[in-house]
Amino acid sequence: MGTAVVTGASAGIGAATARRLAAAGFHVVLGARRLDRLHALAEETGGTAVRLDVTDPESVTALADSVGECHVLVNNAGGARGLAPVAKATEEHWRWMWETNVLGTLRVTKALLPALVASGNGHVVTVTSIAAHDVYDGGAGYTSAKHAQSALHQTLRGEHLGQPVRFTEILPGMVETEFSLVRFDGDTERADAVYTGLTPLTADDVADTIAFAVTRPPHVNIDRIELKPREQASATRAHRA
Ligand code: NAP
Repeated sequence: MGTAVVTGASAGIGAATARRLAAAGFHVVLGARRLDRLHALAEETGGTAVRLDVTDPESVTALADSVGECHVLVNNAGGARGLAPVAKATEEHWRWMWETNVLGTLRVTKALLPALVASGNGHVVTVTSIAAHDVYDGGAGYTSAKHAQSALHQTLRGEHLGQPVRFTEILPGMVETEFSLVRFDGDTERADAVYTGLTPLTADDVADTIAFAVTRPPHVNIDRIELKPREQASATRAHRA
């Protein structure tokens, strides 16, 4: 099947995706900052662990240099910081969200596109969010970053028409991962409250949809898949028992 690079593979959706793609026959290259976690996953999947900070251009160049052949890139590294209204926005949080979700996706994609195209059957999957089209109070730093990441991804699709590379955007709703723990700076009570009273998606649910898109025949481009828990209608509407 070839080589698949997964960014943010040390936790949540990225780790689950790496497992699914390895099971589908890919050699997985696992990128994230927490190398200890990656080593364990590399052993489990027969993949390769690479220390990667998507906000650091040198780290991204080193990843591209070490990969060589590349068939699939999953732009998954990202997340949210804080839930402050715009009037009380923390610039540092906004900078983190834009650097990681938007510029991180730009950097890694730019670095790996030549190899993806050269493979003759490349595929870029970008994990954005329903926050790429919804907005909600307190969420502007994250929603604006996800809107931008989505615009970047969609533009690539047009710019590479006629070339052997596919582009799929994955837009999840609520997924129970370390996402809320990161957003609320390690506050477990606040993070757990996000998922009370409903059954959120699991990282495996999202990984399944990514593996589905990636394993279609080369002439089939799944442009976007949006998936949410049954109890969630939008970023602002959910039914809680
Ligand atoms: P998670 O469990 O917090 O995982 C985030 C991953 O991103 C970690 O592996 C983390 O690894 C990595 N990461 C963060 N900053 C990085 C950096 N500078 N360089 C490299 N890797 C970095 O959250 P998740 O839910 O799986 O999130 C994965 C993606 O799904 C994100 O883009 C998120 O925005 C999106 N998403 C999540 C949800 C949700 O409800 N959970 C919904 C929609 C979309 P290290 O810390 O080890 O670097």
